[in-house]
Amino acid sequence: MASQPLQGLRWNFGSLTMAWRAFDGTLRPCVQQRLHAALGGLLLGTALCASVQAQTTTPAAIAQPEGASKIVQNPGWHFQKQAVAAANPLATEAGYAMLAAGGSAVDAAIAVQMVLSLVEPQSSGIGGGAFLVHFDGKNVQAYDGRETAPAQAGPDLFLTTDGKPMAMKQAIVGGRAVGVPGALRMLALAHTTHGKLPWAFLFAPAIGLARDGFAVSPRLAALLAAETALQKDPVAAAYFYDIQGRPWQAGHLLRNPELAAVLQRVATEGPDALMTGEVAQAMVKAVRQHPSNPGLLQLSDLAAYRPVLRQPLCANYAIAPKTYRLCGMPPPSSGMLTVASILKTLDFTPAASLPLTKGQPGADWLHLYSEAARLAFADRAAYVADPAFTPAPAGDWLNLVQPAYLQARAAAIAPQGPVMPQVQAGRPGAPQEPLSWAPMAEQIEHGTSHISVLDRWGHALAMTTTIEDAFGARLMVNRGGGLAGGFLLNNQLTDFSFSPEGADGKPVANRVQAGKRPRSSMAPTLVFDADSGALQLSGGSPGGAFIIHFTAKALYGVLRWGLSPQAAIDLPNFASMEGTTFLEKGRFAPATAAVLQARGHQVLEIALTSGLQVLARTPRGWAGGADGRREGVVLGD
Ligand code: GLU
Repeated sequence: MASQPLQGLRWNFGSLTMAWRAFDGTLRPCVQQRLHAALGGLLLGTALCASVQAQTTTPAAIAQPEGASKIVQNPGWHFQKQAVAAANPLATEAGYAMLAAGGSAVDAAIAVQMVLSLVEPQSSGIGGGAFLVHFDGKNVQAYDGRETAPAQAGPDLFLTTDGKPMAMKQAIVGGRAVGVPGALRMLALAHTTHGKLPWAFLFAPAIGLARDGFAVSPRLAALLAAETALQKDPVAAAYFYDIQGRPWQAGHLLRNPELAAVLQRVATEGPDALMTGEVAQAMVKAVRQHPSNPGLLQLSDLAAYRPVLRQPLCANYAIAPKTYRLCGMPPPSSGMLTVASILKTLDFTPAASLPLTKGQPGADWLHLYSEAARLAFADRAAYVADPAFTPAPAGDWLNLVQPAYLQARAAAIAPQGPVMPQVQAGRPGAPQEPLSWAPMAEQIEHGTSHISVLDRWGHALAMTTTIEDAFGARLMVNRGGGLAGGFLLNNQLTDFSFSPEGADGKPVANRVQAGKRPRSSMAPTLVFDADSGALQLSGGSPGGAFIIHFTAKALYGVLRWGLSPQAAIDLPNFASMEGTTFLEKGRFAPATAAVLQARGHQVLEIALTSGLQVLARTPRGWAGGADGRREGVVLGD
């Protein structure tokens, strides 16, 4: 079995040239060689890479923790059979290598995730969680690898001694917010059903790159330069910074022998090598012995973690004469529910008759979008939490996106303004019952990575994966055997409400409880033709709660405005959160903000750093797009 994949291995050098546009050209052939060696390493045992000159690019200053690095204009990609879209060229390459070797979409996603753990450590990894929506040609399945709260955690986890919610940064850095990582066991579960290549083979690219080194990307360098907490963790400080404490620059060849060793064990022994034994002990030690902010993770939490295979949440979305079917994760993610709620609410406003204005969403459309989003987010704040702890409203999450319910909600929107003075959660399904929950206040989040894959069998997936904040809990796990590096732990528990109850004393649905999964915004999405069942699109984005807006924009752009995936991704970003309408800084016509303000919007123009990856069917095959606001690329054939 193992020799077949290598024979099938091919490289798309045309795309690779493009993929490496942001990197030092001298590095490219060496990385190529290392990845070949890594893939062959399982069988051939040799790596053949010469030393690499460090590049001296000065990282761009950035304003947000997971803010913009450098925006590039991606060309968009076309393919007929199979493709991988991921947030870093090395990760995309690893996934594509698996497809080319005869692998499935799940095989590719596993290889991508392992490389992302190494090359995009700020966003996702084996220390975090993920959601994966899979289509096997007939059925859609939703794999939930979300972190869980440790058994010792309770509703007061993020309260200070005087009972007030603690500051976000105080909660994030250290062991307190570390949830039980779920991505690896979730991928292993998906692989048992949908994998075609041997599990161990999927780890070869990441192991090779971790052992031999990879070029620090411009984005990683920029985020390291802006980071202030990571240096305080001794393992991370020794790995990400030089001995003078300066962050590595773009192009620096960084080796992570500890991660290579851990991944080698996982490749050979399976996910128990992470979740039990010496690696699990190192995780627990890092969390519980954190000097200023220890957490509650125990060995038993890690050993007991299980991913959940859920029914996907699917909702019809009609754009005459077609009806699409949007499928994504049900709770604990709020992603698909809120995206569907916004898009379907817009159908009960004049939005559908509004085309792009000079190539971008105009003020009239943005007003309607922002109002629809306010309604959807009010429901999200009230209802969405881990379904093992919180029942769906009137017994079914789909009640939140039923047409009659949304039509009644949309009636409150004035098409020309002014903005709705106040927005509250609705009462879907059972209007007479009082609402049991207090709304959860919005909490800022950053991080995450999105992967979309289509394989030669027409099977596809959308997977969004995260360690929550940029660089997660700023805790790097190392077994202490003398190897440098390791992997970062998530701070996913900060996705719970810090306040367990509202001002009226009602509980918040998404409060911390032992064993519970925090509510997410991640929205890995598959879109189908509702009549034929044919897959139309796979997509998603990082961005915290803004994920919902980024994903809604991409879907609307492709499905309603008829744009290519790349053009839809390139549209300026916008969002609505807690009464503020956000516009991507410098991207909208100046009149847009003025019109919105005249209608009562509080407008804020900021960098909105989406990381969308989208694959979509076209009349001539497939098209792919990756977000030039980050470093994603698509490879396919
Ligand atoms: N932790 C967030 C969630 O699951 C994602 C964080 C991000 O994308 O920045 O919704």
